[in-house]
Amino acid sequence: MSKFLVNKYQNLKSYVPGEQPKERKYIKLNTNESPFPPSKKAMEIAQKEIKRLNLYPDPDVKELLSALAKKLGVNEENIIFTNGSDDVLNFAFMAYCDDNTPAIYPEISYGFYPVFADINNVPKKEIPLKEDFSIDINDYINEKGTIIIANPNAPTGLSLSVDEIERLVKSNSERIVVIDEAYVDFGGESSIPLIKKYDNLLITQTFSKSRSMAGARLGYGVASEKLINDLMRIKYSINPYNVNRMTAAAGLGSIMDDEYFTLNCNKIIKNREFATSELIKLGFLTTDSKANFIFAKHDKIGGKELYLKLKENGVLVRHFDKDKITDYVRITVGSFEEMQTLIKTIKNILEKAL
Ligand code: PMP
Repeated sequence: MSKFLVNKYQNLKSYVPGEQPKERKYIKLNTNESPFPPSKKAMEIAQKEIKRLNLYPDPDVKELLSALAKKLGVNEENIIFTNGSDDVLNFAFMAYCDDNTPAIYPEISYGFYPVFADINNVPKKEIPLKEDFSIDINDYINEKGTIIIANPNAPTGLSLSVDEIERLVKSNSERIVVIDEAYVDFGGESSIPLIKKYDNLLITQTFSKSRSMAGARLGYGVASEKLINDLMRIKYSINPYNVNRMTAAAGLGSIMDDEYFTLNCNKIIKNREFATSELIKLGFLTTDSKANFIFAKHDKIGGKELYLKLKENGVLVRHFDKDKITDYVRITVGSFEEMQTLIKTIKNILEKAL
């Protein structure tokens, strides 16, 4: 840290992204990326757009906007596009949290929420999960502030029904609820239909996981027109060009190729079920994940040890140094072959450990 860094950032603890190692080739199951390439259509349209990189992109990303609005069954005025969904989540913390409106979210959830709160200098309140890692909506009903819930939650993969989300949103129309649906396409239930009924609900989604575009950085928010206008005010005050030309083009191609998207989501669900049942056979305890990752623990080997042993053997998973989940590892669901290698490697590790 230099002596010039202003006071308010001197204690800022930044988000720690999953490792992206270069020193050797790993089976990479640590950052919830898709094992499948982007759609051919996405690549084809993005390629053509290279020629126009001399021009600024359209800040409203009109073509993509109109395609997504049609797909989601909402109006164009209900969507804002951003640089990954992290961007729109940060906008939400900026727009809807302040000294009197704390950020309220589950104690075990996406590690970026406390960072968004800290960088925006807003108070935060972390609500513990139930013993089984589930979120009890009743714990949030009387809370005053802005509520942020990942559904499915990360890293547990557990999901809430739209009815439960509606109960929360309906319980207090004076409070914003943000539902982060980064992983919703792998078996969760989207609350997007609720935005027509409630103007205090913001849903965020991403092209990073189910649409194989983590490297393109494309996310979006869906909400009532008024909320979208708030978020646009912020976007246009920071960087109206937060979605670049090639990313917008690839996004459009991906939406045009929905068959490929559905096929890949189904493959991930199948691979998740396969790997989960194999892990259970090996004595693991897993959560009922509806995301593209598995959250698992074994009583004969600690989470950190398993992570390190797997790494030694060329398989990268994620371990979180957090008390309540330190026994667990989070394993991204990859291709079928990757899941087979994972299981074989774990079997070997367990045989040596026991
Ligand atoms: N929400 C959750 C729960 C996530 O795990 C992630 C990915 N790390 C994001 C949002 C942000 O993803 P992106 O910015 O790639 O859209």
